[in-house]
Amino acid sequence: MPLNDKPFELIFLGPPVSGKGTQTELVANTFDIPHISTGVILQNIKAETNNPLAQEVASYMDNGKLVPTELVNRLVADRIKKDDCSLGYAMDGFPRTLEQAQYLSQITTVDRVFLINVSDEAIVERMSGRRVCKNGHTWHLKYSPPKDQLICDTCGESLFQRDDDKEETVKSRLEVYHREADAIVKFYEEQGLLSKINGEQSIEKVQQQIIKLLVTDLRSKIDWNKS
Ligand SMILES: [Zn+2]
Repeated sequence: MPLNDKPFELIFLGPPVSGKGTQTELVANTFDIPHISTGVILQNIKAETNNPLAQEVASYMDNGKLVPTELVNRLVADRIKKDDCSLGYAMDGFPRTLEQAQYLSQITTVDRVFLINVSDEAIVERMSGRRVCKNGHTWHLKYSPPKDQLICDTCGESLFQRDDDKEETVKSRLEVYHREADAIVKFYEEQGLLSKINGEQSIEKVQQQIIKLLVTDLRSKIDWNKS
């Protein structure tokens, strides 16, 4: 029985540093489908000098402004229509709002949504333990500690905590994340599309569970058990 639909229209949701970008990339590589992220779409458009949208996108990004949601929607809609998406795609960074999730379901059929679930406490711990040096070498006081908490083992420069990694900043980012993400999660949950994955396991374990679910989905799509 041939597949009449793109079987792999996959969305990855999760808080910052949940590892969703890594998981999206691994799934994209495994199933040979493109990894789509809005960040990359915007960077690519910006670089296309003969694209009339390039200047518009650049005018927002270069001034540190958010690209308007209607424009992002249009760019995503164009991207998922490209030839390399004939089997589907693995997407992260979109949808960011409930409206975008509703928009996406108007223009295509999402097959599966993975929520890489990491508790707020664990996110705060992951981020607030980070230390960097001025050369961009990154350490973590718990997970990859430098010999001396104040000095980079790689280059000998002093280590500091980025403002973005400070507990208060992380907590307010999480608040922003939950404000939109919880509604998106509910939206997909009600449609039976959501799979919650415990993101506090190893990268390999998380990946195994995702692949297993995808293979189960695929088996049911091709009527595997039918004689
Ligand atoms: Zn360094």
